[in-house]
Amino acid sequence: KNLKKYFDVTGGVLSRKVGEVKAVDDVSFEVYEKEVLGIVGESGCGKSTTGKTLLRLIEPTEGEVHFDGVDITKLNSEGMRKLRRDMQIIFQDPYASLNPRHKVEKILSEPLIVHGITSKQERQEKVRKILEVVGLPPEAAKRYPHQFSGGQRQRIGIARALIVNPRLIICDEPVSALDVSIQSQILNLMEDLQEEFGLTYVFIAHDLSVVKHISHRVGVMYLGRMVELASNEDLYDNPLHPYTKSLLSAVPDPDPDLKTDRIILEGDVPSPSNPPSGCAFHTRCSECMDICKQVRPEFVEIRDNHFVACHLYNDDVMENN
Ligand code: SF4
Ligand code: MG
Repeated sequence: KNLKKYFDVTGGVLSRKVGEVKAVDDVSFEVYEKEVLGIVGESGCGKSTTGKTLLRLIEPTEGEVHFDGVDITKLNSEGMRKLRRDMQIIFQDPYASLNPRHKVEKILSEPLIVHGITSKQERQEKVRKILEVVGLPPEAAKRYPHQFSGGQRQRIGIARALIVNPRLIICDEPVSALDVSIQSQILNLMEDLQEEFGLTYVFIAHDLSVVKHISHRVGVMYLGRMVELASNEDLYDNPLHPYTKSLLSAVPDPDPDLKTDRIILEGDVPSPSNPPSGCAFHTRCSECMDICKQVRPEFVEIRDNHFVACHLYNDDVMENN
């Protein structure tokens, strides 16, 4: 709810604050139990930062995060520790997120120790089971991360998140670092696990084709803001925001007859430390109007469960145009 994360930019020999990056700039949305909410946007749009602030791995500058009716931004560290079991994360880079000096058994046991499972036998049993769940043989427990392929390492990352029986998992681009041939295997596995265990995912990706099959709803972010949020079908069949339309036009379509013209975005993503005034997308938008340069469009529900932040859908603005 009204989530913001601003990072200081420092410079000069004294490392004084010279500016601010508004990585997440007033974002509000809900995640329903047992749903997969995809969050999509180009690098630097604030999607990972949003995901991490949901777990307080990054402290939000402002705003609230409610989980089961509790604003977790108000909890002390003991309160957070208890909740961590319910809320886990899978990182983008399985190479960087697993300790190379630890065997898989130790990597997977650590979260259990943190959450008070003191019996070694019980931990070993849970490790064996979770390896099976993610499709790895029991011998994997005795090996080191470097002895596995990228896809297998991500299976270990998934196992580590899953081993404490969480309810919510933030999936921060879990397949972006993998070969394309491996991506669908991992996506299928994650989809199966979500159904089998009734998990809730916030699934972050930089392109719409990755989240298309796994998500129930999809949110699109641009320069720290949520610009559109809708059910999967609605977003893909009936996108409203010009940015979403351009992202969709870049998704390869298996049916060439259906292929819409590709919308090429002009220019680069502006710097988040100096975002454009008004609608942050106005410097690249082919439908930009005068008001877009001055007034930030509100994120409003245009139809049932379809939210968009764009003046094109504001009747008052369009009547006066
Ligand atoms: Fe384009 Fe204006 Fe809509 Fe922004 S508010 S996306 S600039 S039409
Ligand atoms: Mg990221």
